[in-house]
Amino acid sequence: MVLEVKKISKNFGGIQALTDVSFSIEQGEVIGLIGPNGAGKTTMFNMITAMFPPSSGEIIFMGKSLSGLKPHEITKLGICRTFQNIRLFSDLTVRENVMVGNHCRLTTGVWQSVFRTKHQKQEEKKVLEKADEILEIVGLLEHSQTIAKNLSYGQQRRLEIARALASDPKLLLLDEPAAGMNEKETNDLFDLITKIKSLGITVLLIEHDMPLVMRICSRLVVLNFGEKIAEGTPDSIQTNKEVIEAYLGVE
Ligand code: ATP
Repeated sequence: MVLEVKKISKNFGGIQALTDVSFSIEQGEVIGLIGPNGAGKTTMFNMITAMFPPSSGEIIFMGKSLSGLKPHEITKLGICRTFQNIRLFSDLTVRENVMVGNHCRLTTGVWQSVFRTKHQKQEEKKVLEKADEILEIVGLLEHSQTIAKNLSYGQQRRLEIARALASDPKLLLLDEPAAGMNEKETNDLFDLITKIKSLGITVLLIEHDMPLVMRICSRLVVLNFGEKIAEGTPDSIQTNKEVIEAYLGVE
C-alpha cells in the first residue's frame, strides 16, 4: 500500500471540510478524487502534504505515519503535488522552473556565481541533465530555454507537472490538471499521465473532466460535503445513484 488515509477530519473554524474520510491507494494506481465544488478534495491534498494538520485521523505513506511532519519532509519522503492555479516562476526559463523543483540553486543568470567549485559544477551538470530528462517526458524539451510565461496554457500546466516530477515522487497529487485545457491539450495530458504511471509513479487525481477521469482512473473516491459517499471502479461510480444525485447529474 502506498497511501492509507484513515478517518481524516478537518474543520476550519465552523466549517467541517472533511469528516472521517478513509481510503487507500496501491502502488502504481491512478485514483480519482472527485466531487462537487467545496466537497473537500483540495483540503484532502492539503492534509496529505501537511499544508495544514488534520483535526483528527492519520495518514500513512509507505508504512510511515505522516503525523507531525512538515511539508518539505513529506516532499522528501516522495509525495509531490501540483496546484489548482498555475504557480510557475513566470520570468524564469522552462528548464529553470524544473530545476527549482529539484530544490537546486539555479545555475544561470544571477545565480551563476553560486556554483564555483568543481564539485558544484558536477552537481550542476547532473541537475541540468535530470531537468532535461523530465522535460523530455512531459514533451517540453524543445522549449527548455523559453521563458515560462511565453508557453501556451496547456504547456504551462505540463510544466507544473514537470516541476513536481523533479523531486522524484513516488506519489504524485494532481489538482485539476485539465482545468481550462482544450480537447487536444486534454488528450496530451491523458498521454502524459499514462506515461507517468508507466514510470511506476502512483497518481491521485482531482479532476472535474469526467471523460478524462473515467478513461484514466482505475478507481474513484467520491466526496460530498466533506464525506466519502462512494468508492469504486469508474463504471460502478457512473451508475451509483447517490453520486449521480450529488455530482454527476441525472441524464
Ligand atoms: P473545488 O472543486 O471547488 O476546488 P474542493 O472539493 O477542493 O472544491 P475544498 O477547497 O477542499 O473543496 O473546500 C472544502 C471546504 O473547506 C469549503 O467549504 C472551503 O470553503 C473550506 N476551506 C478550505 N480551505 C479552507 C481554509 N484554509 N480556511 C477556511 N475554510 C477552508
